[in-house]
Amino acid sequence: MAECLFCNLAAGKIPCEVVYQDDTVFAFKDIHPKAPIHILVIPKKHIASLADLKTSELPLAAHMLETVNAIAKQLGTVKGYKLVINTGSEGGQAVMHLHMHLLGGKRFSD
Ligand code: AMP
Ligand code: ZN
Repeated sequence: MAECLFCNLAAGKIPCEVVYQDDTVFAFKDIHPKAPIHILVIPKKHIASLADLKTSELPLAAHMLETVNAIAKQLGTVKGYKLVINTGSEGGQAVMHLHMHLLGGKRFSD
């Protein structure tokens, strides 16, 4: 989707701090970090939100989770991390391209 911000980031059309990418997933630093570690993991393919995920896309979602775990380990979150998927307008999702927030480097209380 040409007008989608995260599609444009994944396509390299808008610069960002890339942490990892392969054929199907893309990970980059959040521009307004809410924790010392704040990485967004997205599918390269446009999927609007978790609520739009199809059964056929479950392997892709699993690969996103695998990527989150690999990045978390690489960045040294040995005591744990927080994974957030805001979904839909009432779920606080501002960018309508599925993304996982990997948050770490601090202790979360909620
Ligand atoms: P959400 O509220 O779950 O849709 O999260 C969207 C996230 O995207 C927010 O945490 C923003 O700070 C982040 N964001 C927006 N634009 C950019 C950008 N150009 N590069 C990196 N992160 C961004
Ligand atoms: Zn998109």
